[in-house]
Amino acid sequence: MIRLVIAGIIVYVIYRLSRFLFTPAGKISKNRPGEQSRIEGEDLVKDPYCGTYVPINSAHKAAMDGKTLYFCSRECLEKYKKENG
Ligand SMILES: [Zn+2]
Repeated sequence: MIRLVIAGIIVYVIYRLSRFLFTPAGKISKNRPGEQSRIEGEDLVKDPYCGTYVPINSAHKAAMDGKTLYFCSRECLEKYKKENG
């Protein structure tokens, strides 16, 4: 009887262990595939003209007064340039 219980525990432990080993990969792909790392790679920058946050990779860059400014669109860039000399 006791041997049966021990055997049951061993089977249960193996079952839990295999689930533990296989669950992480499944969980990560279930939970927003790759979204976390994508956000980390793309810093958000604020458009000083309209206040929109834009991913740095797709922002329109402009150097002004020794600073690099980022805009959501070419329009915002031009308008900001006009208003700020
Ligand atoms: Zn803008």
